[in-house]
Amino acid sequence: MEIIVSVRDRYNTYTATFGSKHRASCTGGAQQAVERLAVKVFGQLQRTTVAEVSRADCAGVAYWSIKTDPDQACRLCGCTWDHGCEDGCYWIEADLCSSCAPAES
Ligand SMILES: [Zn+2]
Ligand SMILES: [Zn+2]
Repeated sequence: MEIIVSVRDRYNTYTATFGSKHRASCTGGAQQAVERLAVKVFGQLQRTTVAEVSRADCAGVAYWSIKTDPDQACRLCGCTWDHGCEDGCYWIEADLCSSCAPAES
């Protein structure tokens, strides 16, 4: 899966925005802001790659893409971000999804 996010540079504070509810700011650069946003959108355990799609336009807004790693799969059922389990799942470990996680005792 790939999403496109916008990044606004305002007085060296970079704010990455995806849709209306996901937003991350940082002063360390656009890439860091996008990486923080990736964690908010996809979760801490999902591996992603970020890349600049277009440089800042005259309004100071740049566009970046966030791609999920298609090779990251559950070690038990083999589901991925794009092809998750039927009733939905999320990562419990980097290679173990919530459907396959042992039930808590
Ligand atoms: Zn699984
Ligand atoms: Zn799963």
